[in-house]
Amino acid sequence: MRIESRLAQIGSISEPVTGAISYPIYQATAFRHPRLGESTGFDYARTKSPTRSVLEQAFADLESGDGGFACSSGMAALQTVFALFGQGDHLLVSLDLYGGTYRLLEQVMTRFGVTSTYVDTNDLDALEANRKPETKAVIIETPTNPLMMITDLAKVNAWAKRHSLLTIVDNTLLTPFFQRPLELGCDITVHSATKYLGGHNDVLAGLIATKGKELTERVAFLHNTLGAVLGPQDSWLLMRGMKTLALRMERHQSNAIALAHYLQAHPLIARVFYPGLEDHPGYEIQNRQSSGNAGIFSFKVKNAAYVEPILRHIRLIAFAESLGGVESLMTYPAVQTHADIPLEIRNRVGVDDRLLRFSVGIEHVDDLIADLGQALAAAKQEIGA
Ligand SMILES: *Cc1c(COP(=O)(O)O)cnc(C)c1O
Repeated sequence: MRIESRLAQIGSISEPVTGAISYPIYQATAFRHPRLGESTGFDYARTKSPTRSVLEQAFADLESGDGGFACSSGMAALQTVFALFGQGDHLLVSLDLYGGTYRLLEQVMTRFGVTSTYVDTNDLDALEANRKPETKAVIIETPTNPLMMITDLAKVNAWAKRHSLLTIVDNTLLTPFFQRPLELGCDITVHSATKYLGGHNDVLAGLIATKGKELTERVAFLHNTLGAVLGPQDSWLLMRGMKTLALRMERHQSNAIALAHYLQAHPLIARVFYPGLEDHPGYEIQNRQSSGNAGIFSFKVKNAAYVEPILRHIRLIAFAESLGGVESLMTYPAVQTHADIPLEIRNRVGVDDRLLRFSVGIEHVDDLIADLGQALAAAKQEIGA
């Protein structure tokens, strides 16, 4: 079946007792054993739980993986995956990285003896120059957030495999609806399902998909052992959101294209970073390895003084710190999501005080353009051109 059908049918065909179309929330944490040495397949809810299992199997299938794991947040999913590494191991990591991932690597993983080097993961020379004998994996975000830098996954994975490195992709921004890194040979995808997969700014969750039996077993062990698993109610809520992922992503994409064009032509805007625009440096790779672009992009205003009035005047678009939901949100990365990344690194990648990030929702495009237009006009009036 095509992905739209598989998404709509998540959990709808799995409940044999009542035939319920929406899979039930099994709140139980303990499961009766039929007799000594026998199990229904469920023993204790941290290890395996019925509602979570339906979500995990559906997700593994969507990512073309062998295993799926639901976690209590995107950070919990990343921590579970990073626990594959230990004392003395080294990681190569995308330069323009989600701030929380950077904080986990630098302030927690370093205490367990795991070090990281931040590079443009699309640059094979930079990867090669920073590879050490103890390097174990490449951690990639593509597109990166907020600057939307693109990494050629097949190319980098081929390089990684030559050096026996794992390729781990944070696929939060595109979701398996637009991009499936495991089909390109990568080993693991990690998601903040809080974003597009959940889609309604109302459930915090993380997901992992793995390729290969041995790796799947290692991650299953860590998922159970660390215990940062997703509860049954949130598993249900996430499945409910994922059923409409295809429709939402298509609308996010068409709205974002229209708004990116609008901003590109606006006199107060210096630059728009959206891989769906032909002048984006990653446009061609992005077109090849994914089937579309999400609703998130960033843009630079010509003068940092415009930022404050823009954020004060937007009405429909909320000034808030997330992405991927049906409601449009705008974020100021330098002071919000990316505040934990040192100024020197932020300036090197271009996350400066003129950059705004826009998570375009599924509202009518005319209303979004009108709201942004009035906020920009008010900023111009206050600050001057
Ligand atoms: C939000 C986000 C995370 C963290 O996920 P949480 O669900 O907030 O814990 C990780 N990676 C990316 C790309 C994100 O956008």
